[in-house]
Amino acid sequence: MDLLNTLVDKGLRRELPTREEALAVLATSDDDLLEVVAAAGKVRRQWFGRRVKLNYLVNLKSGLCPEDCSYCSQRLGSKAEILKYTWLKPDEASKAAAAGVAGGAKRVCLVASGRGPTDRDVDRVSETIEAIKEQNEGVEVCACLGLLSDGQADRLRSAGADAYNHNLNTSEGTYGDITTTHTYADRVETVHQAQAAGLSACSGLIAGMGESDADLVDVVFSLRELDPDSVPVNFLIPFEGTPLAKEWNLTPQRCLRILAMVRFVCPDVEVRLAGGREVHLRSMQPLALNLVNSIFLGDYLTSEGQAGQADLDMIADAGFEVEGAGTTTLPAHRAESGGGCGSHDGGCAPCGEAPGEAAPGSPEVPAARTDLVAVRRRGAGTDLAPNA
Ligand code: SF4
Repeated sequence: MDLLNTLVDKGLRRELPTREEALAVLATSDDDLLEVVAAAGKVRRQWFGRRVKLNYLVNLKSGLCPEDCSYCSQRLGSKAEILKYTWLKPDEASKAAAAGVAGGAKRVCLVASGRGPTDRDVDRVSETIEAIKEQNEGVEVCACLGLLSDGQADRLRSAGADAYNHNLNTSEGTYGDITTTHTYADRVETVHQAQAAGLSACSGLIAGMGESDADLVDVVFSLRELDPDSVPVNFLIPFEGTPLAKEWNLTPQRCLRILAMVRFVCPDVEVRLAGGREVHLRSMQPLALNLVNSIFLGDYLTSEGQAGQADLDMIADAGFEVEGAGTTTLPAHRAESGGGCGSHDGGCAPCGEAPGEAAPGSPEVPAARTDLVAVRRRGAGTDLAPNA
């Protein structure tokens, strides 16, 4: 297929595809799916070999958020029966993090619900980062605390944080449909603050919220422009008790096409398969390892993932290897320059919009798989052992 040959050539050169090419990936048929995966897999292997980086989530503070992000089980007014607890103590968080590291994770992601941290919260998280770094040599720590105020990114960096996560989630055009209590611009600003402080930026998206193909391409092109080092791709988990509970829009095939598109647009960036992996990819998860070079180990913030050992077995069975702590994740040109989502100088090719119609051959209305959504009841904030 000419499209795929072009995209592989561009990916190997770190050149930006056109919007039409990105849209065309999303519009490929199920008959072409393996070709799409194989093509994006060549780009993935060029920059990351067969390595898979493991990340481990620690939910420092769960639920009771005053913001209204429609997709979130921790939002204002959420009826989802998730664990709710306030800040974990540094030693509790460190213990949870250690379980993830023992399971093979090289990055620990410290997440707290809320609009953004107070300065006291930054103090708390700084103590937690110091405790984790002291007890787990070489571990990377990423903080995800919401919108940052002036100076907070610098303080996190000084405390030893390596990275900061703040997702764009969806396109600028649809952001107001998803959240009303803060803006897309607020999110962009926080990513810029993290970058300015020397933190490695992590920013990604959530697919499956009813967005069009054009919206998905918009947010991925915006991410390339924003230039994070890692791009988590979440697939919406439609939690009962949230406004998006009925949004079961994804098939495994659609998820794979989305991941392939992200890989082509951000060829040399850590593309991380995040929440919704088990729920939406199901038995097709191993194919996704040809597209992403990073996953979360074990459980998510408020839902349970498959057993950590099942993640490790899947990686080995699919012929990939867990990335060791001594290996630099990013290709040398990015690691040395401190960033650069592909050849940033390539710029974004302006081009027209295309309708977000369903791909030919895809089921129009995927079945709701509420049976696969399990609220997290173990690990951080409980007396039960974490899943790692
Ligand atoms: S700010 Fe974070 S925790 Fe709060 S509702 Fe939005 S995504 Fe959920």
